[in-house]
Amino acid sequence: MPRNFCALRLPVASLLVMLLPCGSSYAVRATRTSESSGSLTTVVIDAGHGGHDRGGIPGQRIAEKDMTLDVAQRLRNVLSASGYRVVMTRDSDVFVPLPTRVAIANSYRSAIFVCIHFNATQRRGAGGIETYFYSRDSLPLASAIHSYVVGGAPSSNRGVRRRGFYVLRKTNIPAALVECGFLTNPTEAAYAGSASYRQKLAEEIAAGVRGRTSIASARYIDQTKVAKSERQRSKRSHKKSARKKKSSSKPTGSEARCGSIDRET
Ligand SMILES: [Zn+2]
Repeated sequence: MPRNFCALRLPVASLLVMLLPCGSSYAVRATRTSESSGSLTTVVIDAGHGGHDRGGIPGQRIAEKDMTLDVAQRLRNVLSASGYRVVMTRDSDVFVPLPTRVAIANSYRSAIFVCIHFNATQRRGAGGIETYFYSRDSLPLASAIHSYVVGGAPSSNRGVRRRGFYVLRKTNIPAALVECGFLTNPTEAAYAGSASYRQKLAEEIAAGVRGRTSIASARYIDQTKVAKSERQRSKRSHKKSARKKKSSSKPTGSEARCGSIDRET
């Protein structure tokens, strides 16, 4: 992408702001009870991947970028109806560089950032929901989103995790990244393929946004040190053998998710 792409994206993204009135008495109630300040909260929704970046792993049948966008758009609709001001980092099948996504998020004061992804790994049996955060200020948001999504999804609970993904590390507002199941798991891929399930996901994520100040923060798995040791292992294997480097530096198991590959850089 050309360097000036970032500069060009911001005004376009700003046009995506949705400012809608409360759509129902339920929405008014939900907004009033969860927003203690009473001020309008901006939610920046980030649909993972897009354009040439399909997400997931090579050969994956369902494109992650399509699932993330669909859930993000549904989430926008639910939150807008609840009286939130919503900004989308992308609202179509386009590639948006990670720094641009972060710049959009950081351009809004008192906003929160919700990043939507689906998982992938070579092991077909791997499944479940996991939610990431990085800064301590983001733990309540991640905990609430995770609690609702796990509560509403038939998938297993892989926990709340702390990890330095780029979009979490660089945003200066509360930020959470939810992995809504494994598209490489046949059962979870079938769920994701259902519009009603994606709507359910959006509603649970929205419930987490609304309830972020009232849900107890979860115990979490700290993967910040794991990521560091992975990098060190990768360096060692590089020194040992250039031939082995390719396979050993590839993340394994759940670490083979798109997150390790595309969100750290
Ligand atoms: Zn992803």
